[in-house]
Amino acid sequence: MANKGILIVAVSARGSLPAATYELITAGRRLADALKEPLAAVVLSEKASTLAADLAARGVDKVLCVESPALANFVAETHAKAAAQVALAGGYGRVLLASNVTGRALAARLAVALKAGLAADVSEILPDGKVLRPYYSGNLVAQVEFKTPVAVMTMAPMSYPRAEKTGAAAPIEAVAFDPGTAKTQFVSFTAEAAGEIDMGAAERIVSGGRGLGSAEGFKPVIELAHTIGAAVGASRAAVDSGWIPYKNQVGLTGRAVRPKLYVAVGISGQIQHLAGMSSAGTIVAINTDKDCPMMQLASVSVQGDYAELIPAITAEIKKRKGSVAVAA
Ligand SMILES: Cc1cc2nc3c(=O)[nH]c(=O)nc-3n(C[C@H](O)[C@H](O)[C@H](O)COP(=O)(O)OP(=O)(O)OC[C@H]3O[C@@H](n4cnc5c(N)ncnc54)[C@H](O)[C@@H]3O)c2cc1C
Repeated sequence: MANKGILIVAVSARGSLPAATYELITAGRRLADALKEPLAAVVLSEKASTLAADLAARGVDKVLCVESPALANFVAETHAKAAAQVALAGGYGRVLLASNVTGRALAARLAVALKAGLAADVSEILPDGKVLRPYYSGNLVAQVEFKTPVAVMTMAPMSYPRAEKTGAAAPIEAVAFDPGTAKTQFVSFTAEAAGEIDMGAAERIVSGGRGLGSAEGFKPVIELAHTIGAAVGASRAAVDSGWIPYKNQVGLTGRAVRPKLYVAVGISGQIQHLAGMSSAGTIVAINTDKDCPMMQLASVSVQGDYAELIPAITAEIKKRKGSVAVAA
């Protein structure tokens, strides 16, 4: 029997589903409609049944719940076993995951288990099922055709809008799962500092580079980010200098992001950095060198010293926010 249907793999993180799951639904729905195939979502969680109703209301045809205490924390081996069981039982032809830490870890294992072709960081699924994904640090966008009966793909963040609730409710089915004994074990989880926004889901990112000169130099950049509700990013030069943790790094060897607004402060825009952010909606560059690649690429380029510009911009935004609040 030919593999048919599209399966979205939804992995809960700390008891809730990441917003990227809703982007997968939009991508999956469009493909399902184009191919005239069904769209299902599987929730892997220790409380899958409570999360399922949310997905069932967002335009999928069916939600499958794999609920087990073994899925309370992410263990790639166990989660992949559950996802593979569902994908094999349903005979799905395409499996979609978010291109985040858990999605990437699962996709590789799933591709092996399903003998599937794998495409990572897909930015678009074409109506015929071929996909677009970047190569060579994003310098080339290739159209990829799967030759295998099953295709596994991770979707680049922000490539599709998040599916809204439709008012309809798809059927929800529980799936029995025996996790068995895993060779790997969850040890501990360290939460982000309160108030930090994850870059993967951020609509705005303010990033700093070597031009900030020190960890101290990051303070005004972080304050600007907090003022506009943005995540904080960084170049590798800033990370390697020990001014900010690696988890904030944007680029080839850091995170690939696609916010609506990316503010690059003191970042020259080397190709490895651009690989992670060049598809941002609006890019604002603040730099002393008007000729550097980031200033050339940006939609808005402001030449000057960040130490003068950033506090002034932050103060102005705070002032305007304050006056809006008074006016309201
Ligand atoms: C295999 C490989 C992988 C890599 N992966 C990554 C990656 O994932 N991410 C990444 O970022 N890099 C990566 N790099 C490194 C990359 O090549 C660059 O070295 C790095 O991006 C440079 O960081 P930067 O722009 O902060 O520093 P620089 O290139 O030194 O630029 C600093 C900028 O600050 C400006 N400036 C200086 N003073 C001020 C001031 N007072 N106010 C405003 N502007 C000022 C300067 O004009 C300059 O444009 C990688 C390199 C390799 C070889």
